[in-house]
Amino acid sequence: MASTSELNKLVFNIGDRYNTFDPFIWAEKLNLDIYWENIGPKPLAKTNYMFNNPFIVMANSVKYSNQKYFVLAHEIGHVLEHKGLAAYYVSNNVHRRKTEREADAFAMAVITNLYVEENGKLPDTYADLRYNYGLPYLGE
Ligand SMILES: [Zn+2]
Repeated sequence: MASTSELNKLVFNIGDRYNTFDPFIWAEKLNLDIYWENIGPKPLAKTNYMFNNPFIVMANSVKYSNQKYFVLAHEIGHVLEHKGLAAYYVSNNVHRRKTEREADAFAMAVITNLYVEENGKLPDTYADLRYNYGLPYLGE
């Protein structure tokens, strides 16, 4: 179970390695293919596996919205934190809710750093982040 500071460290290390907190560039570097499909409204994205290789399906409805950054970062959180397969096949609801919260925390850290990258400062309020990236409800 990753703590918040471990999550932040992980996010910071990846941002440092790729020189950006843009999750679309991360996906490219991590060889994560993204397929835009008519899915949603819930979920807005899904991580799937083909022969142990993860790929991400995202909803067309967020393709031209800033919400796509949070949504993709959440999925990358699943791929990185849970090494994919094990978490994917877990059927236990309590565990699943926990992995969703962790993926949300991961995505929040990415989005916060992306805000700093683009604006040169921390967001003043959570509302700033919400406005800039159209954050979905946490925990789903
Ligand atoms: Zn999730």
